[in-house]
Amino acid sequence: MTAKAGDRVKVIADNDIKEGILMPNEETDSVVIKLDNGYNVGIDKKKVKEIKVVEKYKEKEESTGKKPKKDSKKPTIAILHTGGTIASKVDYETGGVIAKFSPSELMELFPELKKIANFDSRLIDQMLSEDMRFEHYKKIANAIKKEIQKKVDGIIITHGTDTLGYTAAALSFILENIDIPVLLVGAQRSSDRGSSDAAMNLVCASEFITKTDFVGVAICMHESTGDNSCAILPATKTRKLHTSRRDAFKPVNDTIIARIDYDTRKIEFLKKDYPKPNGKLVVKDKFEDKVGIIKCHPNMFCDQFDFFKGYKGLVIEGTGLGHAPVDPPNKLHVNIMDSIKSLIKSGTIVAMASQCLFGETHPHVYTAAINLSKAGVVYCKDMLPETAFVKLAWLLGNYKKDDVKKLMAENLRGEINERLMKDEFLD
Ligand code: ASP
Repeated sequence: MTAKAGDRVKVIADNDIKEGILMPNEETDSVVIKLDNGYNVGIDKKKVKEIKVVEKYKEKEESTGKKPKKDSKKPTIAILHTGGTIASKVDYETGGVIAKFSPSELMELFPELKKIANFDSRLIDQMLSEDMRFEHYKKIANAIKKEIQKKVDGIIITHGTDTLGYTAAALSFILENIDIPVLLVGAQRSSDRGSSDAAMNLVCASEFITKTDFVGVAICMHESTGDNSCAILPATKTRKLHTSRRDAFKPVNDTIIARIDYDTRKIEFLKKDYPKPNGKLVVKDKFEDKVGIIKCHPNMFCDQFDFFKGYKGLVIEGTGLGHAPVDPPNKLHVNIMDSIKSLIKSGTIVAMASQCLFGETHPHVYTAAINLSKAGVVYCKDMLPETAFVKLAWLLGNYKKDDVKKLMAENLRGEINERLMKDEFLD
């Protein structure tokens, strides 16, 4: 029997035997199988002696497409799907990744959800999050607005994990005075992997929405590598800090908002001071496109900064307390200072965040920062560089230039932790 993609196979190679699901892969010189731990491995075709079929792939019954019945006693959650690994499966026929997003398909993939709430779902996009652009933030924000008008009890945005933090920050700036929970949920492993985190992240997000009075934008992901709990993380202060672990998302200069125990479904709040709405929903969805971010490193040249001439905003991811290589007597560094000054003179708003991530920037300790600050660089305190980038583009899209500079250094959506503790660091 010849093995086909989707079959469970045993691959017998020169010095190795591996068992898993055969993945579609005609283009390369490897036989790729998905192991039970969720990882894919490639085995050199030249070394493969035999591929034994352990179990043929069974096509699941096609979804009926019928809407699941609503339970009037349960709250309603809208799921807006934007793409990424979560709620996607490999289609073994074509080898492509397909999204499963209709309410019936979601219930098939994650049957446990049915017990928690009624779900409405819509496909906003089907993309990998590294391809996100500002126009997508606008699209998602307006889809959220529509759901809020329909009076749903909460919204889950399924999203790729790579830039999920940027989108979370963007949505919290765009949507002011949200009066329901809006949770971004991703998965590090796709739903068809044994080790997928998709179901637990979605279940925890749904439990949190139905059991608490939290309002605003936040992120819900695994808190640890085990299947014990999920964390509700602050939208403007969370970063993907690991490429593959299920607990990759961690708060930076902040704490988690709440923890959902997966076994007991109990919710423990670690923070009660999340912002509450104070008026009607306001949607400010414009972004300035010409905003960049530059990371400082040894051996820089001024033309790296000159590249941003004509840009309306630039975030410098400085070293340490917020430094760039601008100190004399090195002429190359004096030139960098001149380039930054000329950017500011030509109207670019230049902001400073730290590549350390933890702790605050400080414009008054070292000469470099003192001079950069004197030249007009705005110091962003303990703001994450990517949040500073999103905020600067958003401010430039919606406010007058004088206000942008002022607002950049003010806390609008929890992006600056005014009560930052010295010992708030990785434990
Ligand atoms: N690269 C993917 C994305 O961010 C990874 C994921 O889906 O989590 O869309």
